[in-house]
Amino acid sequence: MQKPVLAIVGRPNVGKSTIFNRIVGDRVSIVEDMPGVTRDRIYSSAEWLNREFNIIDTGGIEIGDEPLLHLMRQQAEVAIDEADVIVFLADGKEGVTAADEEVAKLLHRSKKPIVLGVNKIDNPERKDLIYDFYSLGMGEPFPVSGSHGIGLGDLLDAVFSHFPEQPEEEEDDETIRFCLIGRPNVGKSSLVNAILGKERVIVSDIAGTTRDAIDSEFTREGQKYTIIDTAGMRKRGKVYEHTEKYSVLRALKAIERADVVCVVLNAEEGIIEQDKKVAGFAHEAGKAVIIIVNKWDAVEKDDKTLREFEQKIRDHFLYLSYAPILFVSAKTKQRLHTLYPLINQVAENHSLRVQTNVLNDVIMDAVAMNPTPTDNGKRLKINYATQVAIKPPTIALFVNDPELLHFSYRRFLENKVRETFGFIGTPIRIVARKKN
Ligand code: GDP
Ligand code: GDP
Repeated sequence: MQKPVLAIVGRPNVGKSTIFNRIVGDRVSIVEDMPGVTRDRIYSSAEWLNREFNIIDTGGIEIGDEPLLHLMRQQAEVAIDEADVIVFLADGKEGVTAADEEVAKLLHRSKKPIVLGVNKIDNPERKDLIYDFYSLGMGEPFPVSGSHGIGLGDLLDAVFSHFPEQPEEEEDDETIRFCLIGRPNVGKSSLVNAILGKERVIVSDIAGTTRDAIDSEFTREGQKYTIIDTAGMRKRGKVYEHTEKYSVLRALKAIERADVVCVVLNAEEGIIEQDKKVAGFAHEAGKAVIIIVNKWDAVEKDDKTLREFEQKIRDHFLYLSYAPILFVSAKTKQRLHTLYPLINQVAENHSLRVQTNVLNDVIMDAVAMNPTPTDNGKRLKINYATQVAIKPPTIALFVNDPELLHFSYRRFLENKVRETFGFIGTPIRIVARKKN
């Protein structure tokens, strides 16, 4: 189920990213620690009163050197397209500006629920500064202070009152949901067309919150699939859709709803930074991953070309060592039929459960072979292991001191688990818990 989405819109410097960071909190992102991956976040999950939602800072979507009003118009469009509720943020110290009024007009026309936040009210006694903002016709202004963390609870309460009702969770385990992600021009739409070419497709407006996304459902050899709509697949020709951060945003939304993420590369152009960034998101989200190298028809090949490309992928995507690689051509349809068995296999591994006693044998054998590390004279002691979740498979190790489980030993155990159970195509999470 797609989480509801909140977007923050407002002039530069009113405090959008300050408030975004406040709301998101200190969620750590694995991807951000990887070289070549951008640090500035524009999209994140967040939580308020035990309900998860997603939040977009439209100010982070750089649209280029645009005049202020043009920029604001595009940010408002992104928010209107993507969000369930829009927070319009203004600056209480500056008062209502002409640009605020323009944006207010635009947002009004959208019919999306809007909550008006007036930021930089650092001193609660200056709440009187908000009265001017009634003139924007957006209802009650909420005084907040991003830098002091004041008033955000009331603001979020108002936002939540506009979120759509949470429908009953209907887990459909029968259907494999997958998406294709990748930078523009790698061939995502061509692949989707080639994949869907022979299938009888039901195109459906998806249930829930994103009104403009279109999913395609079909059945093949008894297995139900849904292809989730991604950035770049339907070109609607708005200016902001060509900005990189916007396509990252769309990719993130698709990844969230998928079980299997196909990361598409362009064989003709090789691997660039943007590819790594996109792939990193799939890994971080804990989805099953397949790497598809498209346009293989367009490459001059000898008997080494494929191996070399494969090696290049392994070198560039170290964290995706579990992802199978498929060389295809959307144009000639070469090897495209092998995608389905692969999707089935990685989806199965993604939700595989292993028996606790077998898992424990594997972990204990591994420890016997390569004793646990010590840190300052203290040795890690693993009491037992059990799988606590699927999608992705997550293994809890009950230990004397979770701090003692370091990256390299975790990696060693992961490799042992993979040697035994396979788990091709899926990340595995290993978490250390203190045994009481
Ligand atoms: P954005 O361009 O809308 O994302 O704005 P930023 O979050 O980058 O903030 C712009 C400036 O306003 C920064 O210097 C912030 O430190 C400052 N700022 C943000 N929130 C507050 C606040 O609540 N009170 C005050 N006094 N300054 C703030
Ligand atoms: P998207 O932006 O990722 O959706 O990419 P498109 O599907 O629009 O494809 C971009 C360009 O690459 C188009 O001109 C396609 O005709 C071309 N293309 C896509 N797949 C292949 C392929 O397998 N081989 C060749 N030679 N060209 C391809």
